[in-house]
Amino acid sequence: MQREELTKAKRIVIKLGTNVLRNTDGEVAISRIYSFIEDISKLVKQGKEVILVTSGAVGLGKKKLNLDSTAEDGVKQACAAIGQSRLMSFYENGFGIFDIPIAQILLTEDDFSLRYKYLSLRTTLNKILEFGVVPIINQNDTVSTIQMNPVLSGTKVCFADNDKLSALVASELDADLLILLTDIDGLYTANPKENPDAKLIKKVPCVTDEIMALGTDASDGGRGGMRTKLEAAKLVTRFGGKVLIANGKIPYVISKIFDKEDIGTIFLPSNENLPDKKRWIGYATNIRGQITVNNGAKKAILEQCSSLLPIGIINVLNDFKQGEVVSICDENNVEFARGMVNYSSEECRKIVGAHSNDIEKILGYKNYDAVITRDNITGLI
Ligand code: GLU
Repeated sequence: MQREELTKAKRIVIKLGTNVLRNTDGEVAISRIYSFIEDISKLVKQGKEVILVTSGAVGLGKKKLNLDSTAEDGVKQACAAIGQSRLMSFYENGFGIFDIPIAQILLTEDDFSLRYKYLSLRTTLNKILEFGVVPIINQNDTVSTIQMNPVLSGTKVCFADNDKLSALVASELDADLLILLTDIDGLYTANPKENPDAKLIKKVPCVTDEIMALGTDASDGGRGGMRTKLEAAKLVTRFGGKVLIANGKIPYVISKIFDKEDIGTIFLPSNENLPDKKRWIGYATNIRGQITVNNGAKKAILEQCSSLLPIGIINVLNDFKQGEVVSICDENNVEFARGMVNYSSEECRKIVGAHSNDIEKILGYKNYDAVITRDNITGLI
């Protein structure tokens, strides 16, 4: 039944991890890359819209320069620039054989985090798809600075790997399906590399905390691991998309998926239908600070979808401006929601614990009763 559903997907994001684009000896897996291209071309010819998110640039650049490590400052960025053109040359040649034009899009966190850039990117990607072109997306490691900047406590960047990037793209474009191709068969009950009794989970109806706890860190080469794939699945299923994690080393795996073969782990959509703005607040933008709230406020936000009033605030961390997005944490410092603030951190600090009626007395003006309005809050659990 669910396998049948997958074949009906019209707009599909496919993410290829570093480890499926190269062989175990680190050489480019040329025949596999061409088989992906052949499979995707088939889908495009059937009228489906495919967006490809591809890793592999850093690995290819490293190989080209014969380097053992990319740890030194600037080396990974340089490798990304060197490898990206090589990576694209495979796609250009391969899709060219099938007469399918491609477009390269390299993205950093700001392209999602700043709302006007996010909306403009969506318009552009939709246009590219309308033209019947396959967008080929990668994180722009050459200019991205997230891995270099120390992340202040209470702040977060919206993505640092292609798993999350592919989920953000799927969310931005309302894709029906995200396929994450990696080097294991799907989600297991335990890490199959360490535990021979681990069993493949075929279907995940809901990405619960228990499922999230099965997430492991990245293996060699790639930046994401099962944890980032589960985070991707959580976002996509919350807006009504489906997700499939499967082994990209299975020959012609994409065609097999669309031939309804029982491959990988499928994540079913929730009934939540999270609207776009809430998705952006919850997942697509950088987090500038943190507001800690008392248990009463937490309950009101999660159970009654209430706004956050100053009376419920205990603490404010870091500096943020009105209109920026912050983490909302409980008394144990656990993040349970994110929201776009009506007041700056400086204003918030002055009105911590105050009654909304007193805001004007304290600040000399009052633009809102709430520090975060309910429509601008996204619960994370
Ligand atoms: N952008 C990186 C690359 O092209 C990969 C990022 C990731 O593995 O998530 O090598």
